[in-house]
Amino acid sequence: MSRLDIVTAYVAARWRTATLHGQRLRAWQEHRATALVERVRERSPFYRELWAGAPASAWRSFPTVSKQAMMEDFDRFTTVGVTRDLAMQVALDAERRRDFSAVVHGCTVGLSSGTSGHRGLFLVGPDEQTRWAGTILARAIPDLRPGHRVAFFLRANSRLYERTSAVVQFRFFDLMQPLDDVVASLNDFRPRLIVGPPSLLGLLADAKERGALRATPSRLVSVAEVLEPQDRARLERSFQAAVGEVYQCTEGLVAVTCRHGALHVQEDVMVMQTELTSPLDPTRVTPILTDLWRQTQPIIRYRLGDILRLDAAPCACGSSWQRIAAVEGRQDDICWFPRGDDTLRPVFPDAIRRMILLADDRITEYRAEQHAAGTLEIHVAVRDPRDFADVAMRLREAAHEMLREYGCRLGACSVSEGVSASLPGAKRRRVMCTWRVQQVTAPVLAT
Ligand SMILES: [Zn+2]
Repeated sequence: MSRLDIVTAYVAARWRTATLHGQRLRAWQEHRATALVERVRERSPFYRELWAGAPASAWRSFPTVSKQAMMEDFDRFTTVGVTRDLAMQVALDAERRRDFSAVVHGCTVGLSSGTSGHRGLFLVGPDEQTRWAGTILARAIPDLRPGHRVAFFLRANSRLYERTSAVVQFRFFDLMQPLDDVVASLNDFRPRLIVGPPSLLGLLADAKERGALRATPSRLVSVAEVLEPQDRARLERSFQAAVGEVYQCTEGLVAVTCRHGALHVQEDVMVMQTELTSPLDPTRVTPILTDLWRQTQPIIRYRLGDILRLDAAPCACGSSWQRIAAVEGRQDDICWFPRGDDTLRPVFPDAIRRMILLADDRITEYRAEQHAAGTLEIHVAVRDPRDFADVAMRLREAAHEMLREYGCRLGACSVSEGVSASLPGAKRRRVMCTWRVQQVTAPVLAT
């Protein structure tokens, strides 16, 4: 079915890594983006109207697109004329039956894990999928050799991952599979590379430490969720393997770590423009993304609700591609606390994460939720249950202390024991804000 072969995609991605930098990269991005805009304008009524006849060369200042707009106008958004109802029906049906062989107009349809209430639909053509996988491999394991085996864990299967090529053996693993089955399959398959979300890799590390998992991958690659530093350290320790990270959005590749562990925007795939997240903090930005390759569901000036910290320093790997110092979580998961004058101040998910991790080293897992302004509900797991009361007390103190430093008050703060597992296949969020406020949009976040 696919015309593009994964090895070709891999080689092409290697070539782009080596050649596209500086002026040459800019010229290449410009060329691809303008050609993309012209093609999309012909086939997507949504974009055609949005751009209202503006020249393709002005693409860097086109209006931005939100996930909500993309989902609401899905029927007119894609370039293949698939309706949202049909795509949703196929995707839900595939999830229910755990059979992802269905395609719509030759495209694979899937649900991207929704973090802010609404689930996203994605639609990708066979070549787009192949290029995605080939590029991830090229960037995550540049030293791929014939015979290498790669285990890919994904929330939803798609046709791509069941193909094997003559060079690389791919095996797809469904995130919904029972862990014992997964461990047995991995012991049998003995992959050199395991790609999966960090919550799954953490479970595999447990199995490794128990001695149940005998596979000895030389590299792990974290995808689909934020990889926190303590999780990375733990994976490196358990597997004695290098840990890479892929950062993506609606199945498009945004950034991948290099051999020096720096997360670089994949500028041959995605053009990242940025906006300040808050005028209070010039170091944090939210990205506006343009995917130079996706045509089925074009991502052009797409506003991604994530908070990033950028790093302007050059990387020892020699790549000029933009470095991301940290992905700090979803903008939707900013928590809000009242200052002395009762106005609300944002506290970033990363600050809450750090507060919890530094509060007490007996904490093994946690989740923090905010259900109303000024409050915090913290769930923690501790190694020895006898320590819980003491840990809870120190956590409350640390929370009060952090908010004092922000000039804010902490209202109700509960600490409870035990962290329930996420739903299978659901995206893990360690800090989440479940309420939505009107005032967030107006004075504080205006940039
Ligand atoms: Zn680098």
